[in-house]
Amino acid sequence: MIEIDGSAGGGQLLRTALSLSMVTATPFTMTGIRAKRSRPGLMRQHLTAIDAARQVSDAAVLGAEPGSQMLTFIPQAIRAGDYHFPIGTAGSTTLVLQTVLPALIRAHKGSSIRLEGGTHNPLAPPADFLIDAFAPVLAKMGVQTDIRLDRHGFYPAGGGVIDVNIQPAQVLKPLQLIERGQLRAVSAKALVSSISSSVAERELKIVARRLSLSDSAMRLQQIKPPIGPGNALIIRVESEHITECFTAFGERGVSAEQVAERVCEEVQRYIKADVAVGAQMADQLLLPFALAGGGSFTTTAPTDHSRTNASLIEKFLPVNIDFVELRPATWKVEVG
Ligand code: ATP
Repeated sequence: MIEIDGSAGGGQLLRTALSLSMVTATPFTMTGIRAKRSRPGLMRQHLTAIDAARQVSDAAVLGAEPGSQMLTFIPQAIRAGDYHFPIGTAGSTTLVLQTVLPALIRAHKGSSIRLEGGTHNPLAPPADFLIDAFAPVLAKMGVQTDIRLDRHGFYPAGGGVIDVNIQPAQVLKPLQLIERGQLRAVSAKALVSSISSSVAERELKIVARRLSLSDSAMRLQQIKPPIGPGNALIIRVESEHITECFTAFGERGVSAEQVAERVCEEVQRYIKADVAVGAQMADQLLLPFALAGGGSFTTTAPTDHSRTNASLIEKFLPVNIDFVELRPATWKVEVG
C-alpha cells in the first residue's frame, strides 16, 4: 500500500495515482486530496475518474464521496473491454481518458471507450490536443490509439462524444524528443458553438497578424448542431519531429482579442524556446515515458504539476525523472 500526500497537488496527482496504481497493481491511500484548493476534496469530475478506474481494474474503493480528502484504491487485474463513460453535463471526457489510458495500454486485449461530456473544457486537454499532438507521440512509442471526436461538447453544457480504440502494447519504446526539427506549418482553428461567428473572425484576425498566417492556414468552424455556447481557439504547430497544439477558451468578460493574444503568446514562447515539447504535453508525457523505462525530451521550465507528477511516478515505478536546465527557458527532462 503506497501512502500519498495529496496536498502537494490537485486533481492531476489523483489521476496519475489511479493510472499508476492500475498499471502496477499497487493499492494506494491518498490523504489531503486537493487540500490547498479553494474547494478542497473530491469533486464530481474526480469521482467520475475514480469510477472509470474502478471499472477498468475491478478495484475496491473507499472514500469516493464528494468533498472527501481521503481515498483508498485497491485494484485487481486490468480488464480490456468495451467501455462507456457517460460523464454527465460538463465533466471533461479527456481527463477521464487520461486516467484509464495507461492501464488499457497494458491490458492483454484491445479496448474501446465511448466518453460523453465535455470535449473542450478549460483546464483540460482539448480533444484536438489528444488527437493531433499526444496520440502521435504515443504511436512513436508503439502504442496505437485511434481517438475520434464525434461531437464537440463545451463547458458548461457538455454533450460531446469521443470514441477511442486502444491496441495494447506490453513494451513501450523509449523516445528521445530533443530536436523539434524544421517548422513545417502553423495553422489555427476557431470553434464557435451557439455564439456569433464574428467572435471567431476577430480571433483569427489577431492570429493572422501575430503569427503571420494566411487565410488558407485558418479555419472557422461553427459547431452544428450546437448543444450549448462555447468558443475555443486552437493553434497547431507542426514541426519535423513533433506536432504541438495550443488552446485558449473564450470566457465571459474576456474579449475575443485577449483570448487570441493569450494563445499566440504561448505559441510564440514555444517557437522561440526551440524545445520539442510544450509545458502541457510535458506534463502528460512523463507517465508514458516512465512506462517505457526511459527517454528524454526538451521543454520549457517545468511546472509545479510536472514536478509533483514526477515525484509520484518515482514512488510507483523504478525510474528517476530529472529536470535539467540547459539554458534559460530550455530544459531537458530525463527519464531513466
Ligand atoms: P485541480 O486544481 O482541479 O485540483 P490540478 O491543478 O492538479 O487540479 P488539473 O487542472 O485537474 O490539475 O489538470 C489539468 C490537466 O490538463 C493537466 O494534465 C494539464 O497538462 C492538462 N491541460 C490543461 N490545459 C490544457 C491544454 N490547453 N492543452 C493540453 N493539456 C491541458
